[in-house]
Amino acid sequence: MIVESQLEPSEALCRDVVSAGDYYMKVVKKGQTVRILDIEGNQAADTLFYNANDPSERYSAIDTIREQGNVYLTAGTKILSDQGNVMLEIVADTCGRHDTLGGACATESNTVRYSIDKKCMHACRDSWLLAVAENEQFGMSKRDITHNINFFMNVPVTAEGGLTFADGISGAGKYVELKAHMDTIVLMSNCPQLNNPCNAYNPTPVEVIVWQ
Ligand SMILES: [Zn+2]
Repeated sequence: MIVESQLEPSEALCRDVVSAGDYYMKVVKKGQTVRILDIEGNQAADTLFYNANDPSERYSAIDTIREQGNVYLTAGTKILSDQGNVMLEIVADTCGRHDTLGGACATESNTVRYSIDKKCMHACRDSWLLAVAENEQFGMSKRDITHNINFFMNVPVTAEGGLTFADGISGAGKYVELKAHMDTIVLMSNCPQLNNPCNAYNPTPVEVIVWQ
């Protein structure tokens, strides 16, 4: 569902451009709104959410899909935790839908999906592991990395129930915006993937904008 935002970037609290292959790990406070902007289009922002006051509570794809009765995320989606609490709500979306079934890329999955010589290519899981290692204040480690949302990524479910990685439906300047219902750690890997059409074989930067 396409819903445009009324928020002005010039009035934002902070703005961060995240290069492809880099990560973003910051707390968005309860009541604040965070926008992820697909600057050049066809990018994938692989994102995890945690309760900032207790990171053992985290985003649950299973609970979110079940409660909304839909596999795609878009405006109106309540992002639920594994304890059934609303963490954030998607309040604006100019892309239209986002994936939470496809998972993130990892060096291991790259070898299975593409070829064995992809083992050394940078993957989202590496960026998350680097993020938790470089941000000890959150007290998180490898064991906290779970399933995620792929903002802007197009993973349509076929009529037969299959999953396909398809060319992106996002474009330059499209965004998704979420209002936080709790203090939330946003851990995002801006995907460096070069082997599938989800980011048009051309990883590009995204911007994260937070409003009070
Ligand atoms: Zn990735």
